[in-house]
Amino acid sequence: RPIPVRRALLSVSDKTDIETLARALNDAGAEILSTGGTARLLTEAGIPVTEVGDYTGFPEIMAGRVKTLHPRVHGGLLGRRGEDEAVMAEQDIPPIDLLAVNLYPFEAVTADPDCSLATAIEHIDIGGPAMLRAAAKNHAGVGVVTDPSQYPAVIDALGGEGLSVALRYELAVAAFNHVARYDAAISNHLSARSADGERADFPAQLNAHWQRVDTLRYGENPHQQAAFYQEAAAPAGSFASYRQCQGKALSYNNLADADAAWACAAAFEAPACVIVKHANPCGVAVADSLEPAYQAAFATDPTSAFGGIIAFNRPLDAATAEAIIARQFVEVILAPAVADEALAITGRKQNLRVLEIPHGPSTPGGWRLQPIGGGVLVQSQDAALYGDDASLRCVTEAAIDDSLRSDLDFVWRVAKHVKSNAIVYGRDGRTLGIGAGQMSRVDSARIGVRKATDAGLSLAGAVLASDAFFPFRDGVDQAAEAGVRAIVQPGGSMRDDEVIAAANEHGIAMAFTGMRHFRH
Ligand code: 5GP
Repeated sequence: RPIPVRRALLSVSDKTDIETLARALNDAGAEILSTGGTARLLTEAGIPVTEVGDYTGFPEIMAGRVKTLHPRVHGGLLGRRGEDEAVMAEQDIPPIDLLAVNLYPFEAVTADPDCSLATAIEHIDIGGPAMLRAAAKNHAGVGVVTDPSQYPAVIDALGGEGLSVALRYELAVAAFNHVARYDAAISNHLSARSADGERADFPAQLNAHWQRVDTLRYGENPHQQAAFYQEAAAPAGSFASYRQCQGKALSYNNLADADAAWACAAAFEAPACVIVKHANPCGVAVADSLEPAYQAAFATDPTSAFGGIIAFNRPLDAATAEAIIARQFVEVILAPAVADEALAITGRKQNLRVLEIPHGPSTPGGWRLQPIGGGVLVQSQDAALYGDDASLRCVTEAAIDDSLRSDLDFVWRVAKHVKSNAIVYGRDGRTLGIGAGQMSRVDSARIGVRKATDAGLSLAGAVLASDAFFPFRDGVDQAAEAGVRAIVQPGGSMRDDEVIAAANEHGIAMAFTGMRHFRH
């Protein structure tokens, strides 16, 4: 049922078009109640208004801190129509049918870097949000406007049947959004300062969802500032639940690379080692235990492994720790647990950061955020591995036996964690060459071959994974030339036929996964 407006309360900081709204209300025969500044403006415009202080019999006090916080106002907004009439009559509380409020300009005032803490605090509106919540809660009987852009719809309704159910609901939702945004602005601003009014570079928490764990020495580069935030409800087993056992403070790049390494290590059931440089794996291997897995991962690309981040999916043991220390300079080692004997060995390198992520690998839930200028892209995690039929589908004359299938599954898991365009060569549970982050797929394929050659590894009989389909047959020709025996890729190209024909021509087996894994 649409409701007519017999009484309205107007109390706005942004006074844009309030005169127009008030005139329409007056023309519709509504009584107008208003607060100090708003009442003054309307009176000067010749529109009859009742000051809230006169209405409640209680003056505005404390420089406006208390002006509308009175039962006659809140009772008029909250009283249930058709239910509370008796008590409203008894207490002399007439219903208020329309509320127009927008809040103190907290965001605008605090945008000024010189804004003092006292000024910020004085711009925390108390009565406004209370009235907005009251009116929005009681939208069954009250209309609530928070923005001048809503006035025309209300003015139309005043001239017609009154405020419809749909309009009241829409306005109530907008009012709660207005209050939520306002409270978030206050919380963000205050958590970015301390009691003495000083501003911190990074707030202790962002939007109530992100808590600062640490400010970092610098960002990706020394001229950038940085901090690490953790989701307030970070699930156990997520990377952010790490514990640092030893070593220097973690840097921005350490954390970013460690996260990438950890996610890749978590992709394997068997004991696995992943070495990451600049967010890309430069060597991955699985074995019966960690030490041989490490040796094989290292052998993929010893040059790049220097200064790398090394992740394991099993507790770090002494033999593996010893092997690493003996072989290479390493920035970070991470594992689900670190044995005391292993820690005694890593402790010989005091700066080496060792992280324990006790709950071990878990499927990442939640959202993946990527900032872009002035905004943020949000997507669900890339949690799956294969498409609908949940496995590798052979599309060539050459068949895929179990051992080949296991090789293909291994390189496919690695490719998912390599930046696009990703090409991964491997065999027997170890990578042999990784081509990452190129703008053309065939370049990544060439780079992988070159890396294997540089490392003295043969690609004869190796398998290849491509994170997205081959747009042309050139990638397959290139693989054949390198000695590749089988290929795994999503499939789905317009030229799949041409690509499959090329594989058949070379006697290469090829499987489609039905799922792409771009990573940027
Ligand atoms: P006016 O300019 O009309 O004097 O004040 C309008 C502003 O006062 C609006 O932004 C409204 O939200 C706010 N306001 C209304 N009632 C109260 C109250 O009781 N306490 C405080 N702090 N602000 C109020």
